[in-house]
Amino acid sequence: MADIGLVGLGTMGAALALNIAERGYDIAVHNRTVEKIGQFVDSAGELASRLTAAETPEALVASLSAPRSVILMVPAGAAVDATIDQLIPLLDKGDTLVDAGNADFNDTRRREAALAERGLNFIGMGVSGGEDGARHGPSIMVGGPEKSYAAIREIVEAIAADYQGSPCAAWLGPDGAGHFVKTVHNGIEYADMQMIAEVYGLLRDGEGKTPAETAPLFERWNEGKLRSYLIEITAEVLRAQDKTSGGPLLDVIRDSAGQKGTGRWTVIEALKLGQSASAIESAVAARSWSSMGEARAAGESRFGAAEKGTLSLDDGELEQALLAARIIAYGQGLALLQSASEHFDWSLDLGRVAEIWRAGCIIRSDLLDDISQAAREGLPHGLLTLAPAFADRMETAVPALRRVVLEGLRAGLPMPAMSSALAWFDTMRQSRGSADLIQGQRDFFGRHGFERTDNGLSDQHGPWAD
Ligand code: NDP
Repeated sequence: MADIGLVGLGTMGAALALNIAERGYDIAVHNRTVEKIGQFVDSAGELASRLTAAETPEALVASLSAPRSVILMVPAGAAVDATIDQLIPLLDKGDTLVDAGNADFNDTRRREAALAERGLNFIGMGVSGGEDGARHGPSIMVGGPEKSYAAIREIVEAIAADYQGSPCAAWLGPDGAGHFVKTVHNGIEYADMQMIAEVYGLLRDGEGKTPAETAPLFERWNEGKLRSYLIEITAEVLRAQDKTSGGPLLDVIRDSAGQKGTGRWTVIEALKLGQSASAIESAVAARSWSSMGEARAAGESRFGAAEKGTLSLDDGELEQALLAARIIAYGQGLALLQSASEHFDWSLDLGRVAEIWRAGCIIRSDLLDDISQAAREGLPHGLLTLAPAFADRMETAVPALRRVVLEGLRAGLPMPAMSSALAWFDTMRQSRGSADLIQGQRDFFGRHGFERTDNGLSDQHGPWAD
């Protein structure tokens, strides 16, 4: 009998199944398009002996040892519900379904409650690291009933990335906590990718450099404070040559970024919680704007393009600017997690979250060691930027961020994520903001009332109320 089952042999499911088999577990696999099952097993080489090809959901369930656990690796939404509906009648009380895809955590909460009524366990488990991570060791963020995690914990920890002897996998909280953390992870990923792309834009358009000319800079940065997976792969993408044209690959890639929903979900949930992860919001907006190629071309022909080749930025200053913006994006993500944890009563351990992001996942970076330590010590006012280790870095790096943003804006180059990160930072160091005027305006037209600073009385009105 197999130790675990898996439905969905796409990019992630196939890689995860091989990872599980390689760690010494027997796994039964099923896929909607049945031909792919045999092809997958046939191509698995020596791992094939650990795989059971199940051509029907019934065969899958029948081949599992009880209590059964089945991982679902299918696209978010209707596909997950359809797969659950297929499996429910075949399962017994105490069996566990694990949604390992990206899911809207609201769906995860709903599914967990519905399955609990039938005596079935439901785990929402975020898996990060792309295909390579799934195959050789992803970061795994688990949510759901803690006792159900015991059923899959051994396998999950065995397949997860290893960071200095510790698995990058953890149970983080009940119901949707795992998928929520994965969603925010992806939101931070959106912001980081966008900010790196903004720096690439400054170098390409502002300084007139070719992609290959900028690659050494990213390679150097990957040896320093910005060391991270995303900086590392950026250098490789910048260096890549196109086989057809013989020129830079980037020059033949359409500048329209795809998105599947996790960035948008992060922003929606942040707003619902009365938060704003502005760097993530801007990154999601930038992806949407990127898809409006014809409108952008019409804008360029009507208003003219930004100045090209007029900038001469200091490499060290660019590095510091990116560092400051990255810290702000991580900090906004953590603040959102904290807020959700309080709202949903999850008791999220932010230090542990940062720890399991240190290897395997897309946002892994050298900063995460210090972030986890800062989170464990407690973030002053919930802000990473105020944690002593980060406040010192921000003091040095924010002036560089300001100069880089100013230069970019002066040349007319768009920097939505970096400029909004800077605006957030400036807002959060201004003890008296300008919302007094907004309160005055609200009271003027809607008698909403305001609080006085001199005597603390609330529900006060201006002379227009007389
Ligand atoms: P793929 O498109 O490569 O594979 C999708 C799989 O789901 C296929 O096996 C497909 O079966 C199956 N499927 C699709 N629709 C249905 C349906 N209606 N009913 C049953 N099965 C269905 O996707 P990925 O492997 O990339 O993604 C899977 C999940 O993992 C998604 O939630 C994604 O967001 C998440 N994820 C993806 C990452 C990535 O880098 N790709 C990273 C982290 C998470 P069939 O062969 O029949 O089409």
